[in-house]
Amino acid sequence: MNNPANEPTFRESVDLMFNRAVALMDLPPGLEEKIRVCNATYTVRFGVRLRGRIQTFTGYRSVHSEHMEPVKGGIRYATAVNQDEVEALAALMTYKCALVEAPFGGSKGGLCVDPRQYDEHELEQITRRFAYELAKRDLIHPSQNVPAPDMGTGEREMAWIADQYARMNTTDINARACVTGKPLNAGGISGRVEATGRGVQYALREFFRDPRDMEKAGLTGSLDGKRVIVQGLGNVGYHAAKFLQQEDGSKVIGIIERDGALFNDDGLDVDAVRDWIVKHGGVTGFPDAAHHAEGAGVLEAECDILIPAALEGVINMSNAERIKAPLIIEAANGPVTAGADDILRKKGKVIIPDMYANAGGVTVSYFEWVKNLSHIRFGRMQRRQEEARHQLVIDELERLDHLMGDQWSLRPEFKEKYLRGADELELVRSGLDDTMRIAYQSMREVWHGRDDVDDLRTAAYIVAIEKVAASYRAKGL
Ligand code: NAD
Repeated sequence: MNNPANEPTFRESVDLMFNRAVALMDLPPGLEEKIRVCNATYTVRFGVRLRGRIQTFTGYRSVHSEHMEPVKGGIRYATAVNQDEVEALAALMTYKCALVEAPFGGSKGGLCVDPRQYDEHELEQITRRFAYELAKRDLIHPSQNVPAPDMGTGEREMAWIADQYARMNTTDINARACVTGKPLNAGGISGRVEATGRGVQYALREFFRDPRDMEKAGLTGSLDGKRVIVQGLGNVGYHAAKFLQQEDGSKVIGIIERDGALFNDDGLDVDAVRDWIVKHGGVTGFPDAAHHAEGAGVLEAECDILIPAALEGVINMSNAERIKAPLIIEAANGPVTAGADDILRKKGKVIIPDMYANAGGVTVSYFEWVKNLSHIRFGRMQRRQEEARHQLVIDELERLDHLMGDQWSLRPEFKEKYLRGADELELVRSGLDDTMRIAYQSMREVWHGRDDVDDLRTAAYIVAIEKVAASYRAKGL
């Protein structure tokens, strides 16, 4: 997007960032290249009869690293999909899974299509045909390659893919585990739709827990009252902005979409903007905010936290110098190019890198995959037992109080909260929060602990590459 000619491609950007980290590591000769290169990319062209004629589509599925299997990564629907992009995204998946300890190798898929140009039935035909092409080569498979949603795809497409795989593998008892991000009634898990945005919120909460991190960005306090600008109010951007606004008291002052940006210093109502987009197809015309036709310019506005959550390359060498936000959290994959990253680091900006920041999606996908393989909802065995044990404690406390002459009583809201056993959504959120905290702490340790590392991205790469290298070493490669 808007990259000047001398800007590296997305894949080159990922490789440059990888190289910066391995230069600080002590890997055995040759292992560095083995980890960096993409193992294979499959290109498929297939025809679908639509509107009275055959239309040909081009799709990709790239497998970056099989140090762990299955490999995992989303499927993207966009006209700009190409091999370079899919390979860059697959590489990021390898490092992301390693960083958050999801036991997968990295993969990614994409189809060159603008989903807005087709109706639901046509999209189903296209998706089923693409899924057929990938499944027959084991590029969709519960134990080999497990896709998920990405830009332009969601629960609906994942349900079609799962069903297509099941039709082709009628005796596979684990068929549902062939793809994640499915709707709940088709084998999905509570909390998957919100997971990536929720992960962005948990990442920011962890950042604001350590004064040393805040000091690096020149920020103080908490998320409460922080001014946020978000680019892309899709799945990831919407959930991140909504949770920050409704649960942490942050003020969303700017929202950038395809058709321009909304800006209001007093804060925008994220849900109202989302409803407007659903109804009108864009942000244009939304009341209570200034509309800027040249949306990308709002990336450069004064704010505390900038959340690019749309697509790659939006902060590049042409605008990096003008970015004012002291803290950037990469909710999208690759929104900051390697060139821009250099400029921003020199300016003292703190960037929470994509590899970590948007790992909430794959984390909850991991939980979904485990749920599918175990064929049971999380919490089903222990929830009521947990409630019964809590009831025992309450009964005993009340008995003791009665013996002491009814001097005190438990607050009803405490009793209600304490008595309720955790359901699947609570367990998923707890597992996600734990994952995001631990992964952040592993980056933080390298960031503050080593004199030769002065940014979170390099720290993230070092932690991730170390884990992939350990896995290759254990395999004897
Ligand atoms: P989405 O399709 O739901 O949303 C993308 C949003 O960006 C849409 O609202 C779209 O209108 C907007 N957009 C597109 N082009 C734009 C432009 N030029 N300027 C401003 N806005 C623009 O996609 P998503 O699933 O939210 O994914 C967004 C990013 O997050 C991608 O980089 C994706 O790889 C990454 N990601 C997604 C997930 C996930 O679970 N969905 C997980 C990890 C990473």
